[in-house]
Amino acid sequence: MLTVESRPLTAAGHLEIGGCDAVALAAEYGTPLYVLDEGRIRERCRTWRQAFESRYPSVDVEYAGKAFLCLAMARLVDEEGLNLDVASAGELYTALQAGFPPARLVLHGNNKSRLELEMAVGAGVGRIVVDNLAELDLLAGVAATLPAAGRPPQEVLIRVIPGVDPHTHRRIRTGQVDTKFGLSLTSGAALDAVRQAVGTPGLLFTGIHGHVGSNLHDATAHLQALEAMLDFAVAIRDETGLNVEELNLGGGLGVPYLPGESVLPVDRFAAALTEALVEGLAVRHLPQPRLLLEPGRAIVAEAGVTLYTVGAIKDVPVPEAPGTRRYVAVDGGMSDNPRPQLYDAVYTAFLANRAGETPDTEVRIAGKHCETDVLIGSVAVPDPRPGDLLAVPVTGAYTYAMASNYNRLPRPAVVFARDGAARLVVRRETLEDLIRNDA
Ligand code: PLP
Repeated sequence: MLTVESRPLTAAGHLEIGGCDAVALAAEYGTPLYVLDEGRIRERCRTWRQAFESRYPSVDVEYAGKAFLCLAMARLVDEEGLNLDVASAGELYTALQAGFPPARLVLHGNNKSRLELEMAVGAGVGRIVVDNLAELDLLAGVAATLPAAGRPPQEVLIRVIPGVDPHTHRRIRTGQVDTKFGLSLTSGAALDAVRQAVGTPGLLFTGIHGHVGSNLHDATAHLQALEAMLDFAVAIRDETGLNVEELNLGGGLGVPYLPGESVLPVDRFAAALTEALVEGLAVRHLPQPRLLLEPGRAIVAEAGVTLYTVGAIKDVPVPEAPGTRRYVAVDGGMSDNPRPQLYDAVYTAFLANRAGETPDTEVRIAGKHCETDVLIGSVAVPDPRPGDLLAVPVTGAYTYAMASNYNRLPRPAVVFARDGAARLVVRRETLEDLIRNDA
């Protein structure tokens, strides 16, 4: 299986992904190309469910669609029995068009529009995670007609600010006190929201939600958030007499992007969280809520590899030793993977068509955009030549999902590879697509 540490090879010495030859995939579908190992995504879904379900009686694992979503992915998530977290009308629409059961959808967002709320309530979305008091008012109006229509009330969770500052890039922290997401525990706003939700016809308050940040390498921040949220559950019980029936700890577990990087395996993450939860409930004399988790990156990142064709190569004199830097330009860049520009994300790379050769040349991988879109600052590859196929692993999450048309580059295709067979799940955009909406 392809990981940052290991790369399976075909007999021809090419990278193999999902049993398919990467060179053949590039020839068939073109580059840049996102290839996702479908078996690996399914394995991650099962591992996450098993890790939590074997340790705690009542769990829902909800895949965070923001990491990567298309019709095929929504169907895969459904088949694997995970719920799906959607955070916009577009993600919700994709899920519904894929036939995802609405009752297993969760709607997120810090600025949901009336349209999004109407769409979600109308479709019968299982849970809505309320981010702020204005949204609660808006939702109360939208859900007010449910009882008269003979429909059950809309389940809501209140998103709280856990007040935890996790160790990750500042742009992917969300749980700290100073954040746009959720309601403050310390100011009393979160408790106000619970009171308001409980007293609103058409709404059913079921629990609380907290997400501390993304790409976290251990469980420290989640455990701190858990304690804060359990204390809040006590405050809710004291104030309203209600028990928190659902406790959503968000997503955030990271993945290794570079060889040698160590990230807590999901099994140990699950053990840490469920043990702390059971103990924390016992000391506070709280009944067991349903535990909800929302992994995105940890489900899909490692399954993905992006294939690029190498183009211009140049040696540029630089002041630092050894005096020249070799720039290797590929046929994509920040439009298919903005993460290096957004938050200094790091990647490794290798040549998919010469995957067995010794990486003896230090190069900088650059994109083709009118920006300094360096994909990888420095990586060793076998002396590269124009036409080589560069593979960047661990690019399944927040790449296609964040892709743009900068410089009017068409977005690449996405292929699922499994057991030696590939299927196109997102077509490559065409030049005509680029002007389709121009008036
Ligand atoms: N849940 C919420 C509310 C989020 O904001 C995010 C990501 O930002 C996730 C889940 C998924 O996070 P990750 O991909 O780090 O698991």
